[in-house]
Amino acid sequence: MIVMTPEAGEAEIAAVRKRLETTGVHVLVLPGELTTAIGAIGDPEGVRELGLEGMAGVDRVVPISRPYKLASSELAHHEPTVFEVAGRVVGGEQTFCLIAGPCTVESREQTLDVARTVAAAGASMLRGGAFKPRTSPFAFKGLGVAGLEILAEARAQTGLPVVTEFLDTNHADAIAQHADVVQIGARNMQNYALLEVAGRMRKPVLLKRGLSSSLDELLMAADYILKEGNERVMLCERGIRTFETATRFTLDLSAVPWLKLHTHLPVIVDPSHASGDRRLVEPLARAAAAVGADGIIVEVHEDPDEALCDGPQALYARDFAGFADRVTAHAALAGRRLSQTSRAP
Ligand code: PEP
Ligand code: MN
Repeated sequence: MIVMTPEAGEAEIAAVRKRLETTGVHVLVLPGELTTAIGAIGDPEGVRELGLEGMAGVDRVVPISRPYKLASSELAHHEPTVFEVAGRVVGGEQTFCLIAGPCTVESREQTLDVARTVAAAGASMLRGGAFKPRTSPFAFKGLGVAGLEILAEARAQTGLPVVTEFLDTNHADAIAQHADVVQIGARNMQNYALLEVAGRMRKPVLLKRGLSSSLDELLMAADYILKEGNERVMLCERGIRTFETATRFTLDLSAVPWLKLHTHLPVIVDPSHASGDRRLVEPLARAAAAVGADGIIVEVHEDPDEALCDGPQALYARDFAGFADRVTAHAALAGRRLSQTSRAP
């Protein structure tokens, strides 16, 4: 939409129309009481390149179409995206993914213990970080490749597919070898080189929303993965920065139904990082189910007091089965059953 200044006359309007027509867009002149607006329907890139802002009589150019393309539910013929991770369905209206595990792989024993606990409680996938993005460079950054190997062992023992964070393109081979789902952390949502490499890995990607990113920006980040030909992307709302400091971040629950309207991609909620407080994790997990999320990702630890990272938000492993049952009951109210493999383990 090109908004003309109140002073713009016929000649200026005609000049804008003529320039627009060189790109083949459909032009619609909309005279108003104070100003005239000119609608251009067609390729926004072509219009952007015309430099209309510099023309006489033009006040501003306002893009009306959505800035994200491949992630948009407006994309012609696009049904909601549904895919499987080792037999667990992600997306669609029928299933609810319960992704659980430690924040960080700290040791073989700790990871295998938690993996067994969450598997026994019916979890869909195991989460765990081997490469950790830490706010301080002096904090524990994970076990690296040794951590990935522990996750692979946990998968072999429990049958659960592994979700793990990819934070450096140098780790691409190791991540591609061990991850079933490649997690892009909040801090890397706009690391475009990383998104492109993740897109080329041909593995499902869990893309977390940046700490201060808008939903438009999240969907444009998803476009970076989708444009590499990788359709298997799930978005994750994990809380955003607001003026409120009582919780670690503010869980934007409205993001879930908004995303359901504007994108075909599945949406997962992370109540652990959003709240930073295990006492809030279950109510927020239930709320996520109620508001239409395709699943949740939560942190669990056998002994959270001793956790090397994010202990205060980790659910006690001994409480996890009850937690899973109650959240599953809420998901059932939303018409979803737990996403589990139909194949024999
Ligand atoms: C995580 O899932 O371990 C993590 C670091 O989350 P986020 O990127 O959302 O902070
Ligand atoms: Mn964490």
